[in-house]
Amino acid sequence: QIHNDLLDLKGNIRVFCRVRPQLDFEKNRAMCNWQYMDETSLEISTVDGGKRLRHDFSFDQVFHPQSTQTDIFELVSPLIQSAFDGYNVCIFAYGQTGSGKTFTMEGTPSQTGIIPNTVDLLFTSVQNYKLSGWSYNISVTFLEIYNEVLYDLLSNEQKDLEIRMVNPKTPHEITVSNLTEFSVDSADDLRELIEVAHSHRATAATAGNERSSRSHAVTQIKLTGTHYGRGEKSVGKINLIDLAGSESPKTSNRMDETKNINRSLSELTNVIMALLNQNDHVPYRNSKLTHLLMPSLGGNSKTLMFINVAPFDDCFKESVKSLRFAANVN
Ligand code: ADP
Ligand code: MG
Repeated sequence: QIHNDLLDLKGNIRVFCRVRPQLDFEKNRAMCNWQYMDETSLEISTVDGGKRLRHDFSFDQVFHPQSTQTDIFELVSPLIQSAFDGYNVCIFAYGQTGSGKTFTMEGTPSQTGIIPNTVDLLFTSVQNYKLSGWSYNISVTFLEIYNEVLYDLLSNEQKDLEIRMVNPKTPHEITVSNLTEFSVDSADDLRELIEVAHSHRATAATAGNERSSRSHAVTQIKLTGTHYGRGEKSVGKINLIDLAGSESPKTSNRMDETKNINRSLSELTNVIMALLNQNDHVPYRNSKLTHLLMPSLGGNSKTLMFINVAPFDDCFKESVKSLRFAANVN
């Protein structure tokens, strides 16, 4: 088994930064100046009105524009593996729209991201675990959270989804009523479900305003292991979350909507800060996303946050904001 020293070193929350490359059709867009000092720190600077603005940040790991999906998955896979040992894992992509969140989580057919790479890893691991007597059941759900409402991405009819406590004796365990959950036997089955979830998300996005950039997409994978001989059990969860764009929302004529749009995102920051500060009270129930992820945030769960940033001058302010979020968290 792969041992995850990285996560054992300093608690269970890690922050990685990824700066995306300039694409061919973006050659006319001015770039900020980026300096990659070493694997964990970077400097961003620009000239604004004749004045030089400069900021340094450090992270658990910095990925520069030439870093590949493979480089990234090398550091992510130990975390995925730990779900086989019964850990709950959350991996987030945070950043403004256009910064590379979806590229990091999903990628493209030729540069596959964390979700498809996880699918492959899961099923090769299941085969390996069989040799040591463990048999795993893999089940999945796909959710979208938009404007503080949950949507089931595997269902054609929209029923009300509600986050509920499973049992008052285990207040941290939650379940989502009416949510479609499927058991999968192969990587192909799982890939097919991912396609279904995708098409549902895309349909919803064309139907409404800024939904695709303003919603959180949550892929949850549950691994239930049983040891043949010893009768031991293990349950671990992997949560892969493509977050809503972190840029401030354009004010909507509906105030409550404007407020709700970023609520889950700011409450996520609050929860992570509370966990890091070891506060007695962690405000999980203040937003749908943090409530949904309550069993997988804190305790002995493992959290990895990608801060995605775009390299351009016109993104400077938003980039600094995103990088600061991480600076607080670190
Ligand atoms: P977001 O989901 O944060 O809005 P995207 O993931 O859609 O951003 O990225 C914006 C564009 O940049 C997409 O065309 C995406 O394919 C591309 N892109 C992002 N990151 C990279 C990368 N590391 N390498 C190559 N292309 C990237
Ligand atoms: Mg996206």
